[in-house]
Amino acid sequence: MDRGVSHRVLVVGGGISGLAAAAALVQQRSTHPDLAVEVWEADHRLGGKIATSPFAGIDAVDEGGDAFLVRQPHAVALARTVGLGPGQMTAPAAASATVWHDGLHRLPAGIVLGVPTDVKAFATSRLLSWRGKLRAGLEPLLPPTDHDDSIGRLVRGRFGDEVHERLVDALVGSIYAADTDRFSLAAVPQLAELARGNRSLLIGARAAKRKMPAPPPAGSAPTPIFGAPRQGIGALVDATAAFVREHGGVVRTGRPAASLVADGSGWRVDDERFDAIVLASPARASAPLLVGVAPEAAAGLSTFEHADVIMVRLAVPAGEWPDRLAGLSGYLVPKSEQRTVTAASFASQKWAHWRPADGSQIVRISLGRDGLPVEQLDDDTALARAVEEFGRHIGATVVPTATSITRWTGAFPQYRPHHFDRVATIEQALPAGVYLAGASYRGIGIPACVADGERAASAVVAHCFRT
Ligand SMILES: Cc1cc2nc3c(=O)[nH]c(=O)nc-3n(C[C@H](O)[C@H](O)[C@H](O)COP(=O)(O)OP(=O)(O)OC[C@H]3O[C@@H](n4cnc5c(N)ncnc54)[C@H](O)[C@@H]3O)c2cc1C
Repeated sequence: MDRGVSHRVLVVGGGISGLAAAAALVQQRSTHPDLAVEVWEADHRLGGKIATSPFAGIDAVDEGGDAFLVRQPHAVALARTVGLGPGQMTAPAAASATVWHDGLHRLPAGIVLGVPTDVKAFATSRLLSWRGKLRAGLEPLLPPTDHDDSIGRLVRGRFGDEVHERLVDALVGSIYAADTDRFSLAAVPQLAELARGNRSLLIGARAAKRKMPAPPPAGSAPTPIFGAPRQGIGALVDATAAFVREHGGVVRTGRPAASLVADGSGWRVDDERFDAIVLASPARASAPLLVGVAPEAAAGLSTFEHADVIMVRLAVPAGEWPDRLAGLSGYLVPKSEQRTVTAASFASQKWAHWRPADGSQIVRISLGRDGLPVEQLDDDTALARAVEEFGRHIGATVVPTATSITRWTGAFPQYRPHHFDRVATIEQALPAGVYLAGASYRGIGIPACVADGERAASAVVAHCFRT
């Protein structure tokens, strides 16, 4: 250890949350040159739940997330800071999402995370039965619903089971690999806001829709909702790690943090001393580190639940690709109809730079979610099920020319009802100088992880320099 440095910070975990925290910290070195920043990543590669690799002749195809929301500015801003300029970023092609229910159905126009706003589009959609539509039509007349912070309780209570299962759970559940009957409403701000301000979600969603920016004039390009580096999300990880190193930080891989004990006004992690710690490892991995210094926090973190997901990539020959799928971005499978596959993304239709020269189509198929375990499937079984179910969903026989499987074990933290109260209780039990960051806490998407890493970095600076 360099004894000349008086403020030494360790970030545990080299996923995007930890790297964003480190990038924010090294930028403070211009005003606080004695701030030393280290990232320890247990794995032999950085990125955690983000991985990008060559597939089907394309240099960089994501094995996990492939885009981030641009409306939440933190990921876009980080990309810019670490040198990924507009020329290195791209946006998905305009394409329609569908839901599989005895065939593929386009989502009705005007929905807000599955909540209907356009009564005509909803009434004419073939995704719902007449019974389901009539039940949903009662929604504005119903008294307030006691939802106890469960998305499922709220939406089933207001619109009935069909709207919940075929629209809201299909959409929200696929984003978080969640069973939305057991997922916190507060954790999905767009839905929480509708519920907070209005007795009727439909009326609330219509008002929210009216406040949205007007669509661009015909012929002009729409403002993209999602963005991504052309070289895949892994490029954001690589550029952020490079930025940290260029600004004097140290990033180590194959370096797990095994123990944490108090050492005077600071902390000893394994055999090294630090003045502040950011635990950007997932909740369950952080729990054992805290057992000695914050047993209540450790106990709380050890109860967090996570869902496993398997991502299968296929290259489907051009001749097997049905013409009727043109213009579609993929489909979601409602939980009542899920066997193993929960969603498929038609990656080559979604991304212009993921179109193999031979005209084949890259598809990314998600298997498993909370309540639909897949870890017990070996690779051959997982692949066979993905191919069989996908073929059935698109109504074609599929013989892929390239395949890959990525197992994302414990990948998606499950925010149970009242999740944020649990996080607040855990954080109150932490000693000064130790901070939590990452997908387990204040948001699962990449922008929320970046924001959380940056929030933890600000807390470290305030702690070290009493700002
Ligand atoms: C299949 C899939 C698809 C997704 N799609 C999207 C998407 O399209 N858009 C989006 O915005 N988000 C998406 N997400 C979510 C997003 O990618 C993750 O929530 C985010 O990357 C998590 O980042 P993190 O840094 O908080 O955690 P992690 O990525 O889990 O990083 C934590 C790191 O800590 C390390 N670690 C653990 N214990 C220790 C220890 N003791 N010492 C040192 N290191 C340790 C781990 O090895 C890991 O690298 C997706 C996720 C998955 C799995």
